[in-house]
Amino acid sequence: MRSTWFIRLNALFFLASLSFADTNLSALVDAKKFDFSLLLDIRYATKNNFTKVVVYPEARCLLRKSVAQALSRVQSALKVQRLQLKVFDCYRPLSVQRKLWQLVPDERYVANPEKGSRHNRGAAVDVSICDLDGKEIEMPTGYDDFTEKAHRNYFKLSKKAIRNREILENAMAKEGFVGLDTEWWHFDYRGWEAFPIEDVSFSGVP
Ligand SMILES: [Zn+2]
Repeated sequence: MRSTWFIRLNALFFLASLSFADTNLSALVDAKKFDFSLLLDIRYATKNNFTKVVVYPEARCLLRKSVAQALSRVQSALKVQRLQLKVFDCYRPLSVQRKLWQLVPDERYVANPEKGSRHNRGAAVDVSICDLDGKEIEMPTGYDDFTEKAHRNYFKLSKKAIRNREILENAMAKEGFVGLDTEWWHFDYRGWEAFPIEDVSFSGVP
């Protein structure tokens, strides 16, 4: 009898540790804690975005832990090439998505909060590349350019822009990020659909 309880208790602890590990990897974290060198230019925390309105209370890059770890590996790999990431956007709470939708209720530019944005799941990042001095290298367009020039299959560009887009795509793909066809800067981490849409506020993440 005693041994049966012992086995059950052990099984319980095992299951608890498994679910803790899962929660841990999917918990929202501050990406800077995994790589202090990450260069942030969180546009929605400034007026320097296409809505011209500040919609984030803080300039932070929050991501699922496994995604933050993968991004930190991309950063390390780029540094070997004397390059580094520049981060424009990461996790976005659903309430902020609603605010964006109020400002621009047009699905060509903003995801409808009824469906949620990929950024609401904490597994999407908008990134570009800088040199080690923090100067952006040439890319097809600026950030949040909604023309076809931003599409990944657009090639009427300078050789440099095509090459640089490829460097970013390769570095991200190696660590499990998949690019969005219409935005050269947007990447989702593999399995992103499995992460639920969240409405944790920025201040709710340490
Ligand atoms: Zn994006």
